[in-house]
Amino acid sequence: MRKFLLPVTYTLYFTLPRLFLNVFVTVIQSIFNFIFDVYIFLIVLDGWQNGEGFFSICYKVILIGIAHTVFLVMKNWYENCYVPQSDLNINQYMRKLIFEKMKDIDLYCYDTPDFYNGYILAMKEIDGRTNAYLNSINSFINNLFAISSTSFVIFTIDPIFFVIALIPLFVSFFIGRAQGRERYVYHIETQANERKKDYIRRIFYSKEYAEEMRTSGIFNVLIKHFDNIMNQFQVIIKRHGHKMALYEYLDYMLMDVIVYLGAVVIAVYKTVISKDIAVSGALVIANTISSVSWSIRSFSDMYVEFQEHAMYIDNFSSFLNYKSRINDEHAKWTPSSKSDSLAVQNLTYTYPGNETPTLKNVCIDIRQGQKIAILGPNGSGKSTLMKVIMRYYEPDSGKIELDGKEISEYYIKDYRKNFGTVFQDYRLFAFTILDNLLLKDNIAEEERKRALYALNMTEMMNVIEHLPRGIDTKLTKEFDAEGVVLSGGEMQRLAVSRLFAKEYSFLFVDEPTSAMDPVTEYNVFKKILDYNKDKAVVFISHRLTSAVLADYIYYMDKGEIAEAGTHDELLALNGKYTAFWHKQAQLYGEVDRGNEKHNK
Ligand code: ADP
Repeated sequence: MRKFLLPVTYTLYFTLPRLFLNVFVTVIQSIFNFIFDVYIFLIVLDGWQNGEGFFSICYKVILIGIAHTVFLVMKNWYENCYVPQSDLNINQYMRKLIFEKMKDIDLYCYDTPDFYNGYILAMKEIDGRTNAYLNSINSFINNLFAISSTSFVIFTIDPIFFVIALIPLFVSFFIGRAQGRERYVYHIETQANERKKDYIRRIFYSKEYAEEMRTSGIFNVLIKHFDNIMNQFQVIIKRHGHKMALYEYLDYMLMDVIVYLGAVVIAVYKTVISKDIAVSGALVIANTISSVSWSIRSFSDMYVEFQEHAMYIDNFSSFLNYKSRINDEHAKWTPSSKSDSLAVQNLTYTYPGNETPTLKNVCIDIRQGQKIAILGPNGSGKSTLMKVIMRYYEPDSGKIELDGKEISEYYIKDYRKNFGTVFQDYRLFAFTILDNLLLKDNIAEEERKRALYALNMTEMMNVIEHLPRGIDTKLTKEFDAEGVVLSGGEMQRLAVSRLFAKEYSFLFVDEPTSAMDPVTEYNVFKKILDYNKDKAVVFISHRLTSAVLADYIYYMDKGEIAEAGTHDELLALNGKYTAFWHKQAQLYGEVDRGNEKHNK
């Protein structure tokens, strides 16, 4: 019962006016169906047999015609004006609920297959599901009305016809179950294949793959996969097609041949031979027996339909009720805009599904004014550390303190505002340069000026000043032919400009410079340091540039802080950092020597 009521409550909540009109239109439509299928025969034929005058019968028919015309005007308005608007409103409302929730969902969810299977797939169904649910309600009302009104008339004509109409219900109990099972397996098998097809289609549409497609042999590989997928569809159809055809055939045989012909033969007998029923009754039987029988039959399908809706709504509501592990439950403080220290103590973190921790007993101390480098080879856990500090992930053990208080005691939103961050995998959006820089709405004149200043700091103004719309130029040409396509290095400089557009207590710079040439990288880093003399700046890198600029270095290896100290102290240790340093210096040297040779 709960499964049935849950969707009703949700739909009432989201779509009350639509539901009301939907029911209203369906009920009136059902009444007209009844009038045209049953009542009109009774008026005309019974009236004629009882000696009623032509004009009296016409008068009743014309009244029905006028009422139907008025109803059609309303129905057309409902279907062509009201429904599309209401669909949009419902869609907008539901999507915003989801967007709101997605913003706060724990990041670890994205690494959990259940999250995709359960939530993301359910989200995809939003458009179709509301309509499907309303259609189910329509069918339910229609069927209920058809069964209660038409079958009542059939029953009063002769109960035997009602019994005939019920036959498919019993038979379908057996056929329907087998048919349902077959359809379900067919659906599951095609779904899995459908996802693979979707992946290939996405690759062909997406610009990211366009270059690879033209320069490598991947096109043929994709086409081969595509052919395999389509062949797999053929196999699935062959496997299930015959059985499904047989079930459908039995269904139609039962309804259209046995029920219909059986009822008509009995009706003719009862009219002509035994004279138990009137001609109008026989016509009503012939006209309605199949549809009543279908209505009774589809009632048994409706249970399955509503269960499916209930499963979806269950998914949807558990998504909306999902409580983030990282929340403001213990929050009582707002950090000072001039926070002083950040201490990471014995931090251990394991990604969901991983067997070994990515961070092991990490200890780091960051104070205002310090310039710190967190160095180490790829995969040593540097970015993960930054993400745990930002409270994107909850550590397994250990703690992080800001100004001596555990970070869970601060309101998340305010805590994060304290950090200026540029990630290795930063994102730009197909909006204006200004939007991409400030990442906010309602931009004030002051902030606009600050944005220009920030772009100057990363030398991006040299690029932007040549654009006709300056900082109001859109990125990419996807939505605007006058948009600008930036190079990799320029995109990184734009991302780094974000650090200059606002004041922060701590700056975390996680290698957003890989596409910049070493001179530009060095200049950008220098500017960040010069501008933030009294702030804490943390460079996360596997390259040497930041090591030269930092006054304290943490060297990470396999998730642990292997060594820590100043550059000279670490070199004196002659450990992992020294090896890392010499190896890179040697590589840079080789590259430089190579360049020199080449230039000669
Ligand atoms: P670094 O920044 O030092 O290059 P990362 O912190 O990005 O290293 O990654 C450290 C390790 O954690 C890597 O072995 C990587 O495969 C693993 N890792 C990163 N993100 C995830 C994730 N979302 N799920 C599982 N493992 C991850």
